[in-house]
Amino acid sequence: PRLANQIAAGEVVERPSSVIKELLENSLDSGARRIDVDVEQGGVKLLRVRDDGCGIAAEDLSLALARHATSKIRDLQDLERVMSLGFRGEALASIGSVSRLILTSRTVDASEAWQVESEGREMEARVQPAAHPIGTSVEVRDLFFNTPARRKFLRTEKTEFDHLQEIIRRLALAHFDVAFHLRHNGKVVLGLHEANDEGGRARRVGAVCGPAFLEQALPIDVERNGLRLWGWIGLPTFSRSQTDLQYFYVNGRAVRDKLVAHAVRQAYRDVLFNGRHPTFVLFFEVDPAAVDVNVHPTKHEVRFRDSRMVHDFLYGMLNRALADVRP
Ligand code: ADP
Ligand code: MG
Repeated sequence: PRLANQIAAGEVVERPSSVIKELLENSLDSGARRIDVDVEQGGVKLLRVRDDGCGIAAEDLSLALARHATSKIRDLQDLERVMSLGFRGEALASIGSVSRLILTSRTVDASEAWQVESEGREMEARVQPAAHPIGTSVEVRDLFFNTPARRKFLRTEKTEFDHLQEIIRRLALAHFDVAFHLRHNGKVVLGLHEANDEGGRARRVGAVCGPAFLEQALPIDVERNGLRLWGWIGLPTFSRSQTDLQYFYVNGRAVRDKLVAHAVRQAYRDVLFNGRHPTFVLFFEVDPAAVDVNVHPTKHEVRFRDSRMVHDFLYGMLNRALADVRP
């Protein structure tokens, strides 16, 4: 079964940023209000995520790591089937199979914390007492130490860290009510406090996207026929050379979608008449019954019941907002 884990890990764990994504999603699922991420050497040496969520009971700790060790994968056909599902429920097991992993946790009603460890294929079955406040820490050391072929694909420390930071940015914008703190090689890189009001949310956008974006962004908040669009649109005076600054969320979930991209690009182009790359942080809220966000678990696509209407709404609202500030 540990071999199956490693095969699975090839899919789910591509680089440090994919590990962080899984760990942060688990922390968010656990109801955490504060998440601390510690990274060393771009995440290859160490990735540690600590949260103050619900925790994992002692008797479930090994299970959380060993879930993949079921008889789920018996032959290649099974393997393909599981892969196509994106390995839901297998993330920790997969990560543990290609690293040295320590999982420490304490629930509200436990008088102490407990810990399990795994080292690549070897899993220490013993659950040991540990010191930890309510919540969970997952420590992942020496990623791919036992899969050198995979390790060879890693890029420079800076590149890996950039990817990782991007994952945190994207999630932090979707969860204003959760505090995020990120350190790299002992240095504080990101400190985001819980943001519960408009000012707090704007501050977070400034911290995540840079103060220059916020200063030259147009805030928007419009609603029509049960559709709401709010957030910030970067004005053409703001240009960002290197990375894309395009964050779009549908009902709180990060989405990269052709229809959405088209509507935004079109509005931008029609109003501003330049070839600039649009920059934005936008939240689209729609009746959950009118959208399917689970088209594919790992891709960020959505399917709208009435895509024409959504496209027209997005285009129309952005067009109007931008027209008001046309230079
Ligand atoms: P999945 O999240 O898809 O269930 P994972 O392998 O990511 O699969 O996690 C396995 C299980 O471990 C989760 O279902 C959850 O019960 C538990 N778990 C993992 N991380 C945390 C966490 N940070 N807080 C609480 N429970 C966690
Ligand atoms: Mg998970």
